[in-house]
Amino acid sequence: MAVEVVDYIVIGGGIAGASVAYELSSKGKVAILEMESAPGYHSTGRSAAVMSENYGPALWSRLVTASRGFYENPPAGFTDVPLVSPRGALFLAREGEQELLSRQADELVRRGATIDVTSAEGALRFCPVVKSSEFVSALYEPDCMDIDTNALLMGYLKAVRARGGKLVANARAETFERRGDTWVVCTRNGTFEAPVVVNAAGGWVQEMSSLAGLSYRNVVPFRRTAVVFDPPDGSDISSWPMTFDVAETFYFKPEAGKIMVSPVDMALCEPCDAQADELEVAIAIDRIHRFTTMNIRSVKHKWGGLRTFAPDHEPVIGPDPEEPSFIWLAGQGGNGVMGGAAAARLAAAFASNEPIPADISALGITAESVSPGRGCVVDASGRKPVVGTLEAFG
Ligand SMILES: Cc1cc2nc3c(=O)[nH]c(=O)nc-3n(C[C@H](O)[C@H](O)[C@H](O)COP(=O)(O)OP(=O)(O)OC[C@H]3O[C@@H](n4cnc5c(N)ncnc54)[C@H](O)[C@@H]3O)c2cc1C
Repeated sequence: MAVEVVDYIVIGGGIAGASVAYELSSKGKVAILEMESAPGYHSTGRSAAVMSENYGPALWSRLVTASRGFYENPPAGFTDVPLVSPRGALFLAREGEQELLSRQADELVRRGATIDVTSAEGALRFCPVVKSSEFVSALYEPDCMDIDTNALLMGYLKAVRARGGKLVANARAETFERRGDTWVVCTRNGTFEAPVVVNAAGGWVQEMSSLAGLSYRNVVPFRRTAVVFDPPDGSDISSWPMTFDVAETFYFKPEAGKIMVSPVDMALCEPCDAQADELEVAIAIDRIHRFTTMNIRSVKHKWGGLRTFAPDHEPVIGPDPEEPSFIWLAGQGGNGVMGGAAAARLAAAFASNEPIPADISALGITAESVSPGRGCVVDASGRKPVVGTLEAFG
């Protein structure tokens, strides 16, 4: 089979691969290699699809800030529907958790958010199914938005095609060979050659770098479970916020006319087609029964999804220290959709040897702070708590 020569090979057709391909397609010819038959099959199609600048690790929240403009005002022709819409977030504290809630409130104010601190009964104004007897206080934050992930992914891919790039499905990158100044990547659906490879393979990024002969960087996937059920008969759920307990044991939110709940599990796992964990499904149902007045009669849908983290939970974006033509776009954790637009611009700048975009560097993001070589390879669990932020988010 003939070798197809392009300027950039992007591994992975999730939101990371599609968005960086979009950015790179104005600079050269791009091929996105996706191992599945359709894009977005793994994490991107399994997220809670919310955006907020107010939670998550510090650098990710800055990338969300730098992404917001794109989502609110996408380029002409990018999409026929709004990419973001208001959702709001509600945090609930039990007896003994007021201190946690007040720290969360301080952190939100520090990040510039508007907040409304209220009693457990006051929380019913925002979400009428909260079992207020279980909680003592609450905090509402209006800035949290829903993102239309599918419209975003399709918008990126449509624009890539319009600019002469392409997505090659059923094309698992199986071997990487560095020949002189180029990479040769073999798949069952063709062989591709380019001077630069972007590693946007989600839960598989570590596997890709190993195939390319590069050192281990401990950017690994953790499984999270989600369960979907019918809302109470006759209720209008459209304005309900994403509702969390501040101790981070569950969240639930409206999702296409139904309710999605997650027990915010985080289980280290191999990269795979993640499935819902049955114990976590039972825990999710129990949390809804204990902390809301809703009754789950049947589970309509459930899934598992991978969230991939570096040990410090911050972005892994930039050239591999051992091979500058191998660019990482990884470690998105629960932020890959909401921070994806700016993360893609950053990765594209590294891939094309351009300076970090001015708006991103103005937020204090440097090449060192997000480098895959920043030396955060720590214990095998890959976990490190991020103090003062809501890690359950996403
Ligand atoms: C339950 C849950 C809730 C979440 N909620 C949110 C949220 O509210 N907001 C938010 O911003 N984020 C959220 N996230 C996180 C978000 O989904 C991810 O950060 C994001 O989707 C990561 O995108 P990605 O493109 O890196 O990964 P993926 O979508 O997994 O894409 C990687 C792609 O690489 C492909 N691939 C792998 N290996 C190869 C290979 N060898 N060759 C070719 N292709 C390959 C895979 O098939 C896959 O399609 C959530 C995640 C989960 C699981």
